[in-house]
Amino acid sequence: IPQPHPENLTPIDRSHMQVSDEEAIEIVGMNKWFGQFHVLRDIDLTVYRGERIVICGPSGSGKSTLIRCINALEEHQKGKIVVDGTELSSNLRNIDTIRSEVGMVFQHFNLFPHLTILENCTLAPIWVRKTPKKEAEETAMHFLTKVKIPEQAHKYPGQLSGGQQQRVAIARSLCMRPKIMLFDEPTSALDPEMIKEVLDTMIELAEEGMTMLVVTHEMGFARQVANRVIFMDQGQIVEQNEPEAFFGNPQNERTKLFLSQIL
Ligand code: ADP
Ligand code: MG
Repeated sequence: IPQPHPENLTPIDRSHMQVSDEEAIEIVGMNKWFGQFHVLRDIDLTVYRGERIVICGPSGSGKSTLIRCINALEEHQKGKIVVDGTELSSNLRNIDTIRSEVGMVFQHFNLFPHLTILENCTLAPIWVRKTPKKEAEETAMHFLTKVKIPEQAHKYPGQLSGGQQQRVAIARSLCMRPKIMLFDEPTSALDPEMIKEVLDTMIELAEEGMTMLVVTHEMGFARQVANRVIFMDQGQIVEQNEPEAFFGNPQNERTKLFLSQIL
């Protein structure tokens, strides 16, 4: 796993990145099973507006499942998840509300290959939000400019590099004006030279105050951007702390073992 050092990432002034005392996400006693397999155990997690949380842990520890539950891509069986004041239940209207407020970026970009970059960015705003096409295109160009690839708007995903495609995926999410952004290993499928451009885009979002949950092995990013690092193992949140304490003085044996293997 490539480990860009914090000094290689674009420096940021963390003093602007305020965390409010308003809850963006509240998870209480949440459990999830895949059939007989108990994948998430007694998850309690409150995320405040403006927080940048990095989630790490071994493969199979439940990181993806946790963030997929927050976006209602997976159903949980016990406990509650409240996103921006709306409780996630089987109520479909609630699920639509939450999906439109929570953006998600995956490891494998998940762009529509047969649509142009611009069409990828306007599809949901036009069809889900009923935004007029012209306005949706203006918004798309705004966010494509923000991720520094407006000139790619009329190309197809296959014509772009992995780093560019991932920045399109971020722009596409932003076009829905989400209040919260979830990232699931957004740089894991990228060649090393493209990791920085995606992390820099995420750093800019963080600086603008976006509430972010990021599953990543990029510990340089965690140190620099996160206000809280969460370690998961075997479906549980084992340890969480500010980055300095988390990396400098981990408490749990499983955290120590994990960090010794990746740092
Ligand atoms: P991580 O993202 O930390 O690698 P995941 O959340 O993807 O972990 O998976 C946690 C565990 O749940 C793994 O053991 C995985 O095999 C299992 N799992 C994930 N998705 C499913 C599924 N749809 N059905 C059954 N088991 C699953
Ligand atoms: Mg995963």
